[in-house]
Amino acid sequence: MRLRDLPSVDELLRDERLAAAPRPLALAAARAALDRAREEIRAGAEPGDLVERALAELESARAPRLRRALNATGVIIHTNLGRAPLADAALERVAEVGRGYSNLELELESGMRGSRQDHLADILRRLTGAEAALVVNNCAGALLLALAALAEGRDVLVSRGELIEIGDGFRIPDVLERSGARLVEVGTTNRTRAADYERAIRPETAALLAVHQSNFRVVGFTERPRLAELAAIAARHELPLVDDLGAGAFAPLEDEPTARESLAAGADLVTFSGDKLLGGPQAGLVVGRKAAIAKIRKDPLKRALRVSKLTLAALEATLRIYASGHRLPERLPTLALLMRSREDIRAACARLADPLRARLGERFEVAIEECASQIGSGSMPEERLPSMALVVRPQGKASGRVIESVERRLRGLPVPVIGRIAGNALWLDARCLLPQDEPSFVDNLKSL
Ligand SMILES: *Cc1c(COP(=O)(O)O)cnc(C)c1O
Repeated sequence: MRLRDLPSVDELLRDERLAAAPRPLALAAARAALDRAREEIRAGAEPGDLVERALAELESARAPRLRRALNATGVIIHTNLGRAPLADAALERVAEVGRGYSNLELELESGMRGSRQDHLADILRRLTGAEAALVVNNCAGALLLALAALAEGRDVLVSRGELIEIGDGFRIPDVLERSGARLVEVGTTNRTRAADYERAIRPETAALLAVHQSNFRVVGFTERPRLAELAAIAARHELPLVDDLGAGAFAPLEDEPTARESLAAGADLVTFSGDKLLGGPQAGLVVGRKAAIAKIRKDPLKRALRVSKLTLAALEATLRIYASGHRLPERLPTLALLMRSREDIRAACARLADPLRARLGERFEVAIEECASQIGSGSMPEERLPSMALVVRPQGKASGRVIESVERRLRGLPVPVIGRIAGNALWLDARCLLPQDEPSFVDNLKSL
């Protein structure tokens, strides 16, 4: 099709399905379909039936803005894509608790006012070995609150190697400053020793903070004290040691410390996320010593970081799966995705390749190739999981714009498919496309 063969907006609006829609919506849909078709023609692609495309635009304008997407990036815990997919049991609990009323802050036995924190404290204690536990809105909030409650106006010692940026401009030194605590840097970027902390302790010191390096590694001439060494120093000076784990795996994973291990090594407070390796809803978990948690519970900031009943319902269900200790990967999608074998992913690619080939036509080659997935969200940044991808390449000589346009079209589908471009090819890592996602993937292609 050439640019001048494109229909006009008025011609498109003569279609009765478009004409039946409210005029401003139909108009916007027709214009959007035409704009995209022009772009595609310029990029050398065939735009297809414009009425169908306008109808698809209309449908997407009517669809909710926050919606489901298919993750073909190969990054399992992808913050931009909503991090951990929830367990069925967690979703059921959200529906049940959210649909009506609950005992959120009511003690059923006494009929007195209760605390929303009571529902999860026991199970968190059991799972981590902590004396006490608290749940807030997210891990950044948990850290902010812990520092504010324990160290406002006083010093917190942190290694220069751990003054990190987690992502989206979230930096540990900034959080520390907003908590009202004073940051005291110890050691150097690559080497910090236990003695560096010891030397920096003075009467104004309120806490020692360890931050899991999460999204990067320092290699070469490096040194870090073990957590137990820091704990010994903290204990000698009667100071709390806070360990910000971030990912907070519950099932042991190489290189990712669990909250239980951190507490056992002597941390007084451990903070971690609910929606990273734990595989639950967005939440910040704080576990540790009774006295420290009690201080945090009294801090007015706690109210500002309060966790919702929906989060508590989903988190409780997720924690109960861990507590039950059986069939974890079957019941927790995040673990299933982590453990998915290359053969299983290859089979998924084989099922999806033909529909994709049929839809993209002869101008593209769709190959099935090995690739490597990542855990994401700062967990084991160097670790690569063997995976398989559908790799879309333009046939013959084509500019990079062509593959960008395929990427954009997939992203624009009713259920957006998110892949990544590398070397004039679009890589769709199938690790995070679960069998139940496959029908959506295939149906979707009709709109491509
Ligand atoms: C991800 C992360 C956080 C922040 O967690 P959110 O749940 O995103 O608030 C804090 N600390 C570390 C070490 C992290 O990896």
